[in-house]
Amino acid sequence: MKFFLDPGHGGRDPGAVANGVQEKDIALSVALAIKKFLEENFDNVEVKLSREDDRFLSLSERARLANAWGADYFVSIHCNAGGGTGFETFIHDSRSTKSVAYQNVVHPAILDKMGVRDRGKKAANFAVLRLTNMPAILTENLFVDNARDAALLKDPAFLQQVARGHVEGIAKAFGLKRKGGATSKPTGIQPSKPAANKTTTSQPKQSKSGDQVVRAIQEFINTYGFNIAVDGIAGPQTMRGLVRVLQTELNKQFGRGLVVDGIFGPRTRAALVNVRAGARGNLTRVLQALLYIRGFNPGQIDSIFGGKTESAVRKFQRDNGLTVDGIVGPKTWAALLG
Ligand SMILES: [Zn+2]
Repeated sequence: MKFFLDPGHGGRDPGAVANGVQEKDIALSVALAIKKFLEENFDNVEVKLSREDDRFLSLSERARLANAWGADYFVSIHCNAGGGTGFETFIHDSRSTKSVAYQNVVHPAILDKMGVRDRGKKAANFAVLRLTNMPAILTENLFVDNARDAALLKDPAFLQQVARGHVEGIAKAFGLKRKGGATSKPTGIQPSKPAANKTTTSQPKQSKSGDQVVRAIQEFINTYGFNIAVDGIAGPQTMRGLVRVLQTELNKQFGRGLVVDGIFGPRTRAALVNVRAGARGNLTRVLQALLYIRGFNPGQIDSIFGGKTESAVRKFQRDNGLTVDGIVGPKTWAALLG
């Protein structure tokens, strides 16, 4: 399988620029990471980039290179701008059957790793999509002119997640075979849940894919008797799991009597408590997990609210227009969970 990756812009064309982020740089580092992950983890893949450094290429030249190589799939990588937040993908207006099918697999896979707002699967008459002969997709990975999105784009760990999302999506869409392992799970099949009589420690061995810190967070959630997939993907399941842990702890420590349903609604919001520097325990661990998932490095996820966690809280508050006091009250909790 031949995958052609097209990091948008380059050279004299920086793409969107704001908050100290240049679209061309993000696109290139994500594309290079996708190439690396695909080649390292899957058999029978060939990956080519339209550019591997900071150079200008016309849109038609990008398409020409992919067509001449005979790529099986074309992936153009971009960031958005113009006011907004989140992730979206485009295929060409003509909506070829294959482009639609691959978008249906690749889009959610990336979104799942990013844990950001879903702006939807779209179609447009973009030149690289129109001029390429093979199925193609263009991904718009967050908004450089949104402070919160830009903060994520500045975090190398987050960019790795973006790249892994692309890789997981491509692997699923094309049924790629993992090196020395099984074929990627076919489209649309959720990770199997362990049988009800099994404990979390006897879950089937999962592949070591995904973010290691996120895997540890998922294992922590499962110590509460939940059975979420330990896949290193900080998606909606992980967020719901963290809300359930939060609800359990609020009940246990403060007698709140919440329904442990993983839904962050008005009752859970009203039951929240302030957490600040010096705190210890699983509320702090949930806080650290949320900060990490949002792209703010809390230091070790160790249940101890120390200096690194406090500076991550302050940074999060600053980027989200909250009062910057380093104290996690209801508004900060809500922004982290929302
Ligand atoms: Zn662009």
